[in-house]
Amino acid sequence: MGDPGGFRRDWYNPRPMMNPTQQETDERYMRLAIDAACVAQENGDVPIGAVIVHQGRVIARAYNQREQLKDPTAHAEIIALTQAAAALGLWRLHGCTIYVTLEPCPMCAGALVQARLDRLVYGCADPKAGACGTLYDICRDGRLNHRLSVTAGVLADECADLLQAFFKSRRRSSGADTDES
Ligand SMILES: [Zn+2]
Repeated sequence: MGDPGGFRRDWYNPRPMMNPTQQETDERYMRLAIDAACVAQENGDVPIGAVIVHQGRVIARAYNQREQLKDPTAHAEIIALTQAAAALGLWRLHGCTIYVTLEPCPMCAGALVQARLDRLVYGCADPKAGACGTLYDICRDGRLNHRLSVTAGVLADECADLLQAFFKSRRRSSGADTDES
């Protein structure tokens, strides 16, 4: 796997803590997702980041690249899923947890189900497109052939602040309303 964002190794796989609680572990990986989101922002993309963890190891970290790649499917989660599948050599990502700064959209939630991840942890909810508890609940829909356990609201304020600051500065520079979705 390449290193397109010039990431520092020290946060790629941070040193394990002594007997961390689930919340401490979740916050720790969410901080990595926030760091990835900051790279998206530097590229002029909406700051959304994702990391995937398998057996205590980060096997994917990605950020929204929709503008950078001119690709409507280049959401952080989709890129992270591709990286994780490549890292494991499998399309079934059993045993994996994905951490995302923003509640996944319908496309990404569908992809998480397709990839058979165990667990989704996200930061802030997305009232406009959230498909993991807000508008839809795709990851926990009993009619589908796989379900994920979902933890919402991890470092939600930090994740939301990042997005709000981005849109505020973009509105200021464009002087007009922009498409935030
Ligand atoms: Zn998405």
